[in-house]
Amino acid sequence: MARNTIGRTTAIGPSRGEHPYGMRPKGRAVSDDPPPNHALTEGSPDRRSRGGLIVLVTLLGTGDTTGTPTVGCECETCEVARDRGIERTRFSVHVANERTDESLLIDFSPDFRYQFLRDDVSLPDAGIVTHIHFDHLDGLGNVFRILDELDIYAADETDPETGKSVAETVASDYDYLSAIDVYPTTPYEPVRICGFDVTLVPVVHPPLVCYGVVVEDPETGAKLSLTGDTNYEVPDLSRSVLADPDLLLADGIVPAHLCASHPIGGRHRNADGVPRTFGTKHMTREGALELAAELNADRTRLVHVAHYYPADEAFAEPLAIDGEQYRLDEDGVRAVGDDDRDRR
Ligand SMILES: [Zn+2]
Ligand SMILES: [Zn+2]
Ligand SMILES: [Zn+2]
Repeated sequence: MARNTIGRTTAIGPSRGEHPYGMRPKGRAVSDDPPPNHALTEGSPDRRSRGGLIVLVTLLGTGDTTGTPTVGCECETCEVARDRGIERTRFSVHVANERTDESLLIDFSPDFRYQFLRDDVSLPDAGIVTHIHFDHLDGLGNVFRILDELDIYAADETDPETGKSVAETVASDYDYLSAIDVYPTTPYEPVRICGFDVTLVPVVHPPLVCYGVVVEDPETGAKLSLTGDTNYEVPDLSRSVLADPDLLLADGIVPAHLCASHPIGGRHRNADGVPRTFGTKHMTREGALELAAELNADRTRLVHVAHYYPADEAFAEPLAIDGEQYRLDEDGVRAVGDDDRDRR
């Protein structure tokens, strides 16, 4: 469980210039020197013998950069979402390790505060930033005066577009946050975080570098894979690391038929001519589903979903909505029903 500053008399106020920024030296082997509070701890036999939750995945934000409903939008999809009380806020996934009582947040949505209040999940002990787009990073400032300590893991490869790695951008953009330590992380090299083995895998999201994420529970073998924001051209090595997940969260921003309305159309067409990439940055629904089949995912949820889906397609399976939860354990994956929600 993350420590927070509420009720304490210390750790308030910005500290720019007072605390040197906590970014670790580039190239440091994070896995050789994990933060002390994230050392792997033994599982609780009590929880397991009671059939308790092992890995609990909460989809805090399943929308694209404007979310659904989109502010000021009166399209039928946004209206249906309002009527039904459904939403897709900006992207974020919470992964709780019930055994170590820690949680990992994948991406920092601008909707961070609202998401944590709405879904009542624990504050994170560590976070991952997949890439530096607004909808994945700009919520990080929300931890100010909320958390005393937060370890952020982000890729250490220099992005030719920015001249900096994701880790360096996070460190420089948030140098006022004394609570965070940034750990530059080498793609394809697993790192132990919150008791999980976590691996960043390069994906394709021009013009920026971006990474998918694989989270594995070394105790049970449970596996969560996220594609991150990506087009269909995910490198083979990344596909092999993402493969065989219990749960796959795949970017499926729009259905392929909407490529006709994109200024540059669709790409990466399959044998039937169906585009698997929308523009250059994201997979179509069809591309995401093809990737899911290739990866042999037990269960797939499409995320980063745009309000451009027509209303009669926008809430169909397997498109995710906010608040969905999945438990992963040695028996695989299952959605958490209302009965289980009481136990979290
Ligand atoms: Zn709309
Ligand atoms: Zn993006
Ligand atoms: Zn995005």
